[in-house]
Amino acid sequence: MTAIFRNLFFSLMVGLIGLSNFAAPASAADDPTTKKPNILFIMADDHAFQAISAYPGAINKTPNIDRIAKEGMRFNHAYVTNSICGPSRAVNLTGKYSHLNGFYDNRSRFDSSQLTYPKLLQKAGYQTAMVGKWHLVSDPTGFDYWNVLRGQGPYYNPGMLTSEGPKKYEGYTTDIITDIALDWLKNKRDPSKPFLLCYQHKAPHRNWMPGPKYLNKYDDIEFPEPETLFDEYTGRASGAKNQDMMIAKTMNATDLKLNKPRGLTPEQLKVWEAAYGPKNKAFEEANLKGDALVRWKFQRYIKDYLRCIDSVDENVGRVLDYLDEEGLTDNTLVVYTADQGFYLGEHGWFDKRWMYEESFRTPLLVRWPGHVKPGTVSNAVVANLDNAETFLAAAGVPIPDEMQGLSMLPILEGDGTAPKDWREALYYHYYENPGAHNVPRHYGVFDGRYKLIYYYRLNEWELFDLEKDPQEMHSVYGDPAYAKVQARMEKLLEKNREKYKDDTPRAGGKY
Ligand code: CA
Repeated sequence: MTAIFRNLFFSLMVGLIGLSNFAAPASAADDPTTKKPNILFIMADDHAFQAISAYPGAINKTPNIDRIAKEGMRFNHAYVTNSICGPSRAVNLTGKYSHLNGFYDNRSRFDSSQLTYPKLLQKAGYQTAMVGKWHLVSDPTGFDYWNVLRGQGPYYNPGMLTSEGPKKYEGYTTDIITDIALDWLKNKRDPSKPFLLCYQHKAPHRNWMPGPKYLNKYDDIEFPEPETLFDEYTGRASGAKNQDMMIAKTMNATDLKLNKPRGLTPEQLKVWEAAYGPKNKAFEEANLKGDALVRWKFQRYIKDYLRCIDSVDENVGRVLDYLDEEGLTDNTLVVYTADQGFYLGEHGWFDKRWMYEESFRTPLLVRWPGHVKPGTVSNAVVANLDNAETFLAAAGVPIPDEMQGLSMLPILEGDGTAPKDWREALYYHYYENPGAHNVPRHYGVFDGRYKLIYYYRLNEWELFDLEKDPQEMHSVYGDPAYAKVQARMEKLLEKNREKYKDDTPRAGGKY
């Protein structure tokens, strides 16, 4: 071999070795072609899709949250499988229904030894953190760092439980949760690893206490009332009439800010009273009764609720800006969602729990540059049950058989349409009864148009045709015109109960 050939051979070998090193890097995080994405999971508590301006018909403006939709995908049919705080969070973490993850209602305690997606990401080399509202009673597991509210947590001056011991903070909770999340990103994050940050707000949960900046926002405007504010609950099963979540009857003086708030510093209280004092005086002088009083309550409620969301939106903007500034945006999958939907006066209600649309449905916005086409909209029926598998799939981590959802990746990386083998219908099961707001236990199934609901302790059924009756005012269960649909939905319900192995209610058991 001549010297020239020898040199050529040598450089070819070096080139090949280089290439093979590139094709099989020591860790996927080092490899720009298979780089694992960071995951920023933003979850608010009780944030209705009706109060996010990325959704058509919204009543307010949320410019920062909307960025995620503009630069990513908006899901019009994202749902939860059990519409209440703790249970929804347990489903999100485990990718399993309540009857299998064991967290049925807000009196449950999360079995933290079970498999969750943060644990699997952690094993796959992710640095994981959980900040804000946790609400699962047992301490977080699967997180390298956690800093969470005790239970519901207050709107002001929260005490937090952290992986470094308990801590006390002074200020507005929505701002504080963001400060902690940003501090973790800036000072505790290991830049050599991909991260999972669960950044979870307490707001806009009841009793809707706004931050100091927004106490007087909306003072001079009136919000439109929902068409069904004075619903008389005919045309449905008995539960709709017998609930205890009416703005007219259930909303109390603390909710309405007619009482002095607890837990504020003297300085905070001064600011608070300067805002609510004059408003409350005007209310007393007006001496409202009947429908006029309900209308006033609705306005007070909706304004405070939206003021809380203004703080959430502002703080989401702070975090998105930080990702931009640090060059993290391109490789970060950002999700904005809530633990369920909420009634903003529809049917005369506040709160959640029902399989009716406003509480069953939840906002879901996903941004992932290079993977999700900006400004896309999906009408696929997806659920919080799918979150865990979606994050694992995005990180290239194998999905365990025991998870019961579906990865949304084909929807996200496509044009928003569901793949052919997507779920035929979504199964739902709510348990917390007897309990606050008196919503009967029910399970049901929704196929994107029809919704069948069974209140099994009352042996009452409902069937809604969402295309003809989007507000779910008239059940067509038992209507001969819907006999075929009803039979098909009843079969689907049984099929889903089998598929998801739901054997509740169990004879003689609590659930
Ligand atoms: Ca909630």
